[in-house]
Amino acid sequence: SKLKKVCIIGSGNWGSAIAKIIGKNVQKLPQFDNEVTMYVYEEIMNGEKLTEIINETHENVKYLPGHILPENVVAVPDVVDAAKDADFLIFVVPHQFIRTLCSTLLGKIKPTAVGLSLIKGFDQAAGGGIELISHIISRHLRIACHVLMGANLAGEVANENFCETTIGCRNFRLAQTLKDLIETDYFRVVVVNDEEAVEVCGALKNIVACGAGFVDGLGLGDNTKAAVIRLGLMEMIKFVEIFYPGCKLSTFFESCGVGDLVTTCYGGRNRRVSEAFVKTGKSIKQLEDELLNGQKLQGPFTAEEVNFMSKTKNMQDK
Ligand code: NAD
Ligand code: 13P
Ligand code: CA
Repeated sequence: SKLKKVCIIGSGNWGSAIAKIIGKNVQKLPQFDNEVTMYVYEEIMNGEKLTEIINETHENVKYLPGHILPENVVAVPDVVDAAKDADFLIFVVPHQFIRTLCSTLLGKIKPTAVGLSLIKGFDQAAGGGIELISHIISRHLRIACHVLMGANLAGEVANENFCETTIGCRNFRLAQTLKDLIETDYFRVVVVNDEEAVEVCGALKNIVACGAGFVDGLGLGDNTKAAVIRLGLMEMIKFVEIFYPGCKLSTFFESCGVGDLVTTCYGGRNRRVSEAFVKTGKSIKQLEDELLNGQKLQGPFTAEEVNFMSKTKNMQDK
């Protein structure tokens, strides 16, 4: 058929929230097939498979409890089965899993498929740099991959509280299709063509959020936190100027920049676990297990990757 098919690769907290939006939108849009496949990393909950629970109750009881997904979103435990017929691949897994997923998908997807990455993070590149997740997807799967980042705490989006987001896409016509697929009256999309700056913002703000959490853990108050957020923003801008020159300052004022910094430094998981790290002295790994029920932190890994890069490039003083 000529109808465009969408597959969501990932079903954690954010993956499930975006599935709610995409599932409803494809029903309204004539150019999209009404069935959306969602790759679910299989696990057993009280003796039952998570995919079966989702397909029977339409609730991701582990990662987004209390919200009902549209019935046309179908949980699939095999990522190749989920993705093989898709024209649009929405990548939304914690960034540490993306390489394995790409090798599994290589050669098994439509060559004309288009990717959209919602993943906030980097990966270490050979030679001591960092690599953007969208570039890893593009390079490994040989497809175009655009990005969506913003001030989008998953629970609030699933509650349908108004918020904004940013799509980074240079392809003008495709940008409109992606916007149609994602936008709702409560989830406002702004498209910019600065793909790299959008993605770098989404990754780096998680490090700043850890800093904000440390400030909270130390009880230093809101002035100190504002300083951490402001200095963090300046470092994000500097990082983009050095490594992705040519991006616009205005991109940092979109939801992916200032917006996401604010929401993550006040309401995010990276902030919360970092506060607990200071207060309890427990390891980040232990706190992630205790506080997040299977959800994954991105900030500490991203900090490690950026630190690794700045060391190998002799730029730690920057
Ligand atoms: P999450 O933190 O809920 O992570 C859990 C997910 O990881 C589950 O779907 C689980 O099945 C999966 N998983 C666990 N082990 C796996 C493995 N070995 N292989 C593949 N998958 C495995 O995930 P999330 O919140 O959906 O985050 C995904 C991305 O979205 C991250 O980059 C995050 O920064 C970003 N993001 C999250 C939010 C949010 O509010 N949660 C908002 C915006 C962006
Ligand atoms: P945390 O991963 O710190 O919860 O941040 C979520 C997010 O990216 C909100 O935009
Ligand atoms: Ca449709």
